[in-house]
Amino acid sequence: MDQTKSGEEHERNRLRGAIAEVTLRVSGLSAQGEAESVADRVASLQKSWLQLVPLIQPEAEPTRRECPHCHQRIRSAATRCLYCLAKSAPPDGDAAGAA
Ligand SMILES: [Zn+2]
Repeated sequence: MDQTKSGEEHERNRLRGAIAEVTLRVSGLSAQGEAESVADRVASLQKSWLQLVPLIQPEAEPTRRECPHCHQRIRSAATRCLYCLAKSAPPDGDAAGAA
């Protein structure tokens, strides 16, 4: 198994763990006869949720810039606006190699 694959698997296991944690906390909210108070259970759920969120956060949006003509958000590397079809030059540097 190569490095990348085991890294992805590790990420997925962290995600599974975090989802299981939130699921447990959610089901715990309505459980009867719990030792913890509802406020404590809610706090635990919030904490679990906050640990899950960074794991499911979509990747950062590809760098965007504003079309100088119609002001829509277009890809930074675009040489032509998707909306108004006006040509404009991408800024130097950061867009290199962007798909
Ligand atoms: Zn435009």
